[in-house]
Amino acid sequence: MKIVTHSRLNMQTTLTDSPEEAAAILKSGRIVAFPTETVYGLGAGIYHLEAIRKIFQAKGRPGDNPLIVHIYSLEQLAEVACDINPEARKLIACFFPGPLTLVLKKNSLVPDAATAGLPTVGVRCPSNPVAREFLRLSGCPVAAPSANLSGLPSATSWEAVYKDLDGKIDCVLRGNPSSIGLESTIVDCSGSKPVLLRAGAITFEQLQAVVPEIATNSNTDKHAPPKSPGLKYPHYAPKAAIVLCQADEINGGLLPSSAYIGLSAPPEGISRFKLCLNLEEYGRELFSFFRTCDAEDIDTIYCELPSNQGFGRAIRDRLMRAAGKK
Ligand code: AMP
Ligand code: MG
Repeated sequence: MKIVTHSRLNMQTTLTDSPEEAAAILKSGRIVAFPTETVYGLGAGIYHLEAIRKIFQAKGRPGDNPLIVHIYSLEQLAEVACDINPEARKLIACFFPGPLTLVLKKNSLVPDAATAGLPTVGVRCPSNPVAREFLRLSGCPVAAPSANLSGLPSATSWEAVYKDLDGKIDCVLRGNPSSIGLESTIVDCSGSKPVLLRAGAITFEQLQAVVPEIATNSNTDKHAPPKSPGLKYPHYAPKAAIVLCQADEINGGLLPSSAYIGLSAPPEGISRFKLCLNLEEYGRELFSFFRTCDAEDIDTIYCELPSNQGFGRAIRDRLMRAAGKK
C-alpha cells in the first residue's frame, strides 16, 4: 500500500457555485479548483507566481512537472505561445475548444514557474461552459494541473477535489462531474512534426485525419529525455492493487476484497463491480471507481484492458500507469 504524506496548510477552502466568486478569488492571487470536461483543474493566474508555487505545494507536485495553461480565447493563445506552425494551427481549428493540449513554443511573457523552466508551454482551451465562464471572468490565462494530490487518480467531481484538497486550496468552484473523466490528449507541436505525448478523448485516429504525419511517443528516439516530464512519475494509482485482465480470465481464484471494472460481464463472485456500456462510460467512471474502491478498502481492482483503438488507447494508458506497467 502506498502512503502519501502531505502537510495540511490549514487554509479556509471556499465552496462556491459562482464563477464570478471563483474568478475574483483567482484574481486576488489565490488558487481555485474548477470543473472541466476532462478532469477538475487547480488554477492560478499565470502572472501570480506565489499562487503557482502554492499549486505545487498543495498537490505535492514535483517541481519539474510543468502546468498546462488554460486559455479562454485565441487572443490569449497569442499571449502565451509563439511560432505556431501550420500543423498546430490545423489542430487548433479542429479541436479548440476541447480536450486537447498542444505543446507550443513559449512566449517570454509566460513565467518559468508555470512551465517548470521549459522553453515550451502546454496550452488548452476547455469547452466545459462553467470552465469557460470562469476563464472569461478571470481575464488572464490560468495555469492548472489536475486538482488532486500528486500520484492519486485525478478528480472528476468537486467532492473528490474537496476530499483531496480541503484546507490546502482557497476555493472549489462546483460543477457537474467531468463528462470525459480522463485528462486531455497532449500533442507536442514544438518540433518538426507533431507527436502524441498523452492519449485522451481526442483520439490518435482523429488527430491523424487532420495531421497525417503525427507520430506516437514510442516512435521517437528512446534515448531522448522525456518530452512530457509529468509522464515519468507514477500516476493515477489508487491504494488498491490494479490487476489488468480480460474478464473471462479471472473466473475462480479471486483475491478477497476484490472489485472489477470493464466492458464485459463481471466475473462470478465479485459483488463490487462497474459494468460499462461503452468506452466513453469506462473512461468517465474509471477514476471515480478507483476512489470509491479506496474508500471501501478494496484490496484488488481487476480492470479489463480495452484494445488500443480510439478512446481505448487513453483508457489503456491510464490503466497501465495505475498498474505500474508504464
Ligand atoms: P496534469 O495537468 O496534472 O494532467 O499534468 C499536465 C501534464 O502536461 C503533465 O504530464 C506535464 O508533463 C504535461 N505538460 C505540461 N506542459 C508541458 C510542456 N511544455 N511540454 C511537455 N509536457 C507538458
Ligand atoms: Mg495530474
